[in-house]
Amino acid sequence: MDVTHRYALAVELERGLDDNEVAMHRRCDNPLCVNTGDGDAFAAHVVLASAAENMADRPLRITKHCS
Ligand SMILES: [Zn+2]
Repeated sequence: MDVTHRYALAVELERGLDDNEVAMHRRCDNPLCVNTGDGDAFAAHVVLASAAENMADRPLRITKHCS
């Protein structure tokens, strides 16, 4: 499980994530990236999503690592 991303999002949201919520990597597939946008959801690479949303998004994701 993606503990690092869940933790980064929990810090950003100032609450824990529910079991059915996932930290979805949206703009890049860099496993080390924990860019939650710092209050700017549009700029975030890691966003809150449901497990279903995460699966639906997967084929659309650009396989590209941010620097
Ligand atoms: Zn990134």
